[in-house]
Amino acid sequence: MLEHDVIIVGGGLAGCRAAVEIARKDPRLNVAVVAKTHPIRSHSVAAQGGMAASLKNVDTEDSWEAHAFDTVKGSDYLADQDAVEILTREAPQVVIDLEHMGVLFSRLEDGRIAQRAFGGHSHNRTCYAADKTGHAILHELVNNLRRNGVKIYQEWYVMRLILEEGQAKGVVMFRIEDGRIEVVRAKAVMFATGGYGRVYNTTSNDYASSGDGLAMTALAGLPLEDMEFVQFHPTGLYPVGVLISEAVRGEGAYLINSEGERFMERYAPSRMELAPRDITSRAIAYEIRAGRGIHPDGSAGGPYVYLDLRHMGKEKIMSRVPFCWEEAHRLVGVDAVTQPMPVRPTIHYCMGGIPVNTNCQVRSSASSVVEGFFSAGETSCVSVHGANRLGSNSLLECVVYGRRSGASIAQYVQNRKLPSIDEQHYINEAKKQIQALLDQPGKYRINQVRQAFQDCMTEYCGVFRTAELMEQGLEKLQEFQAKYSQIYLDDKGSDWNTELVEALELRSLMVVGQIIMNSAYRRQESRGAHFREDFPQRDDSKFLQHTFAYYSPAGIDIQYCPVNISMFQPQERKY
Ligand SMILES: Cc1cc2nc3c(=O)[nH]c(=O)nc-3n(C[C@H](O)[C@H](O)[C@H](O)COP(=O)(O)OP(=O)(O)OC[C@H]3O[C@@H](n4cnc5c(N)ncnc54)[C@H](O)[C@@H]3O)c2cc1C
Repeated sequence: MLEHDVIIVGGGLAGCRAAVEIARKDPRLNVAVVAKTHPIRSHSVAAQGGMAASLKNVDTEDSWEAHAFDTVKGSDYLADQDAVEILTREAPQVVIDLEHMGVLFSRLEDGRIAQRAFGGHSHNRTCYAADKTGHAILHELVNNLRRNGVKIYQEWYVMRLILEEGQAKGVVMFRIEDGRIEVVRAKAVMFATGGYGRVYNTTSNDYASSGDGLAMTALAGLPLEDMEFVQFHPTGLYPVGVLISEAVRGEGAYLINSEGERFMERYAPSRMELAPRDITSRAIAYEIRAGRGIHPDGSAGGPYVYLDLRHMGKEKIMSRVPFCWEEAHRLVGVDAVTQPMPVRPTIHYCMGGIPVNTNCQVRSSASSVVEGFFSAGETSCVSVHGANRLGSNSLLECVVYGRRSGASIAQYVQNRKLPSIDEQHYINEAKKQIQALLDQPGKYRINQVRQAFQDCMTEYCGVFRTAELMEQGLEKLQEFQAKYSQIYLDDKGSDWNTELVEALELRSLMVVGQIIMNSAYRRQESRGAHFREDFPQRDDSKFLQHTFAYYSPAGIDIQYCPVNISMFQPQERKY
């Protein structure tokens, strides 16, 4: 059995920042990071636009309080305000700390860190490294892991959380290279496993964003919070869905319909293209529905709108958003200096996740926590984003709460013994599960079932939702469960069996999909990214509450928990 004081699952920004903090707080601790990808291939590396902090380098009127207000308003008042206060107060410190670690942020003429405009933020406060911010930060953090002697298990797949008597004791994982199964026991386990974009058919997320950490937590009997809040990013490149960063609109690009009109005028006249993402995505979806989308031959009634950068000029495009120019050029042959880009909403981010308190301890209910289990980053829900996340607040959350989780873990493990685990039992169970998948005589290929499942989630639980649609969707999800036991794998081997990994990921996607749709069905109001055509208003009297969904094979049990409102009373949300 492998042993570490701390095992962190996830090598993205949140997991790496936590590991660095533990090593800083107590260099004697034996810390390991596991990732099913190489850490620098975690989705964090793809983050483009930047990270918000009220440094006041560009806008001296900015303050953490203004950042907190924008975040709470952006969340449609569902964010926990104590968590938002921590996020926004600590933001300037964590940016400066990253810079001291070696992260190369873009600069102003006078050498200070540059800051740009972003959707829903009332001041220019997003720090960035051109449009490759995640790349700049993650590479530096991974270097810091090595410098601090953190053990890295790269390309190991974690398949189970070991939770016994309310205590997380370790994980079961296998090495993708040769199928070797190992049980790891640890005094503290942290999940920083990222998002679940792959639950849907069109997403900006990478293939690894399959919600494994969420599914393992739910399968262990713990709740997931606010899973109905799924963020659509307004500008996914058509037809591939990859992201064209909001930084492009932050730098001045326009959204245009088939009539050549800047239609945001009708939806958010004061913020225009820089309205929050839920509002902008719905606006694009309405335009497309109303027949003002565009076809590839330029005629009206098509499936996308235009993102127009032409007035920005070549020099600005190439210096501020070079990667976005390159994406459009390489993937769809559009030269954004002279042509508009075809875009439409794409699944981007999950606001909900594993519920945690502000010390990143996982919650088992509104009032209790799990011993030895921590989480941070996109997979967690400390609820700083509520019903809708503002752009550039996620990298910030990963770093602020990654650091906080590291500090709480370093303290938690002091003077604790390693837990005892029946290693053989867990190895046998894992072998049985894998062998059953390999031996299954099924009739469906993984890809067939996955694609049909993703289409179902997109169709029945997408931008616009109704009870009727979701009732049909929920029935279909039952059918997919049955199909899962009829998938077959061609590869029966143990070396680099990526088909086996895909089969396990599909299980995660299905558990997460069920929880999303059930949580969405039960929330009979519209708030942030969750839009019910049959309940188009926000309903604070019934639903100013967090959803806690408990999974069991028999169905999903939903409970509601109060929201922390310590600074700003809910108001109507207008832009
Ligand atoms: C294209 C794109 C652009 C973005 N741009 C921005 C931006 O400009 N600003 C911003 O604030 N946010 C942005 N975001 C959001 C932000 O990047 C993410 O929310 C954030 O980086 C998530 O980091 P994380 O550490 O939580 O997880 P990730 O970086 O997703 O890392 C997850 C880790 O978990 C590991 N893992 C998962 N499951 C398993 C398993 N079963 N076994 C072992 N390991 C596992 C993975 O290998 C990986 O190492 C963007 C997102 C995308 C997709």
